[in-house]
Amino acid sequence: MKKRGRGSVPGIREKPREWSCAFDSGAVAVSSEPVSISCELPLSGCIEHWGQEYRFNDPVLVSATVTGDTSGMVVELAIEARTEVDCARCLEPTPLEISEVFRYFYKSLPETEGVPGQEKDAESDEDLALVTALEGEIDLSDQVWEYLILSLPEKVLCSEECQGICPVCGKNKNSGECRCPGRETDPRFDVLAELIDDAGGKDPGKGGNRNGRSKK
Ligand SMILES: [Zn+2]
Ligand SMILES: [Zn+2]
Repeated sequence: MKKRGRGSVPGIREKPREWSCAFDSGAVAVSSEPVSISCELPLSGCIEHWGQEYRFNDPVLVSATVTGDTSGMVVELAIEARTEVDCARCLEPTPLEISEVFRYFYKSLPETEGVPGQEKDAESDEDLALVTALEGEIDLSDQVWEYLILSLPEKVLCSEECQGICPVCGKNKNSGECRCPGRETDPRFDVLAELIDDAGGKDPGKGGNRNGRSKK
């Protein structure tokens, strides 16, 4: 797994402690209209995922609408973030915009049942966030963090046409061909180039991992 040290960038391993993005469930329960909230969650540093570094300098923008009552609330969350990650072929830093919309169903747990947490609702396949009671302020930042990580693509290309680097001399071929002998005609180099291309992600099977992939 390749690592390109960028020494001074602090690594972020978990949700930043100062993150808070709460809605007032009491206001939702008495409102006939969806309640809208928005917040900016600061994010500065790098997140390691898929064996790469996603560097962040801008806050994550969250906007949400909440509907429901004290028996259950549906939160529709939209997150937007900007990051930078190395191109899987040429390793050049590549900006990436993340824009995701997702939904959580908040349900209060009867006191006798289990502990608050998250699970998938087996019937509806919706994400469930279980809280002890749907009252007071309910913080969405755990769910934002979870979806931010889920939305990081496994492989990012600076462009679909990225030529990658020459497997012999290491030159970035986007800035012109190198003079390595025979590389135009020797098919072995194509195989090498594919290997390098594949080395970026170890777990294929997740789709939609290109720069600028479509939004939900
Ligand atoms: Zn590239
Ligand atoms: Zn070369």
